[in-house]
Amino acid sequence: MNFELTPKQQQIQEQARQFAQQEVAPLAREADEKGQFPMQLIPRMGELGFLAGPIEPEYGGAGMDYPSFALVYEEIGRADSSVRGFLAVHAGLVSHCIRDWGTEEQKHHYLPRLATGESVGCYCLTEANAGSDVAGMESTTREEDDAYVLNGEKIWITNGNIADVALVFASQDRAARHRGICAFIVDTDTPGFRREAMPGQELGHRASDHARIILEECRVPKSALLGKPGQGFKVAMSALDHGRLGVAAGAVGVGQACLDACVDFARNRRQFGQRIGNFQMIQATIADMTADIEAARLLVYRAAWMKQQGLPTTRETSIAKLFATEAAAKAASEAVLLHGGRGYSNEYPVERYYRDIKGFQIYEGTSYIQRIVIARDVIGRE
Ligand SMILES: Cc1cc2nc3c(=O)[nH]c(=O)nc-3n(C[C@H](O)[C@H](O)[C@H](O)COP(=O)(O)OP(=O)(O)OC[C@H]3O[C@@H](n4cnc5c(N)ncnc54)[C@H](O)[C@@H]3O)c2cc1C
Repeated sequence: MNFELTPKQQQIQEQARQFAQQEVAPLAREADEKGQFPMQLIPRMGELGFLAGPIEPEYGGAGMDYPSFALVYEEIGRADSSVRGFLAVHAGLVSHCIRDWGTEEQKHHYLPRLATGESVGCYCLTEANAGSDVAGMESTTREEDDAYVLNGEKIWITNGNIADVALVFASQDRAARHRGICAFIVDTDTPGFRREAMPGQELGHRASDHARIILEECRVPKSALLGKPGQGFKVAMSALDHGRLGVAAGAVGVGQACLDACVDFARNRRQFGQRIGNFQMIQATIADMTADIEAARLLVYRAAWMKQQGLPTTRETSIAKLFATEAAAKAASEAVLLHGGRGYSNEYPVERYYRDIKGFQIYEGTSYIQRIVIARDVIGRE
């Protein structure tokens, strides 16, 4: 057993850290306040090879290993969850899914553009009446001559308004539940593909772009089908195995950012004639936070390592996502408290971490759903 990063992994970690601290973090507060995604970071992440980390170089990717990509997510997550969220959807859900399920033609057509950021990807699964229960989706597809025609509505679609390429899931036979679902790669300028901003203001991830997508007689060529007819559910779930690793690694980044902020504050804030870091309750908070973040990090690295070995990782990825997001949520809550009144204002970043982390416990399968995935694997199906 070797817990050391390889020289190449250390180099990618350092590069991601520099990018995150020097280019992402300085924009985070303003992006959050204005509710605007810092679009200039997209081509920059392309240049650095982050937009398609583990995708093979023949499709424009950087060919990095999964542990390295987890480090990229972690470092970006430490700076800004909206940017990390962009990446987990664009690369984790969209590019990886096309790489795993696409024909050679689809891979050569889409992956190089997604790798540079010339195209942005979004993943359209959730509907008003089908969130956790994916198989209950109401969007439909029917075959007509040389095309598939899509109808339905998707909500909460990250990158939805800025995407050029959408992975869309729709059912060809609703009675067949998950066996009726098909996956499609849809160019977002296809007639019948409409999008608008989600109503309301989000609790966190305020710089992310979240869209409602309306499909009205949206006609795509037969070549847009990803995988075989009826394989869409498997395609969607395999994408989540990639995406959840990104969420878990990003949560480690948020937890680490909370810890960094708390250590700094505990060293500098003085009350009762001494630094607050001298008080045992503050020390206990920081010790628990440290232990939780370290444990979460190891779970994330293990899941990434197993993925790199080509082993099945559904259970390990769910364990990593569940533990890391819960640990980071606890860390963020404690971090606000530890900062006192200052933690309650966006003068300090911990209030943004506190708002952002709630989303991690919801998207790509809530914490309850991760528990179901884990328990099903442990107990087995009857
Ligand atoms: C910031 C953000 C970004 C998102 N981005 C995307 C995106 O890019 N693409 C996309 O497709 N979706 C996206 N989503 C949607 C997200 O994946 C869903 O919100 C999530 O899967 C939960 O679905 P729901 O909101 O319909 O909740 P529901 O499924 O209605 O769940 C409501 C509650 O019931 C619980 N519950 C449901 N079923 C069970 C069960 N069997 N046992 C126990 N508890 C259960 C849930 O855990 C939850 O607490 C995003 C959401 C957010 C907040």
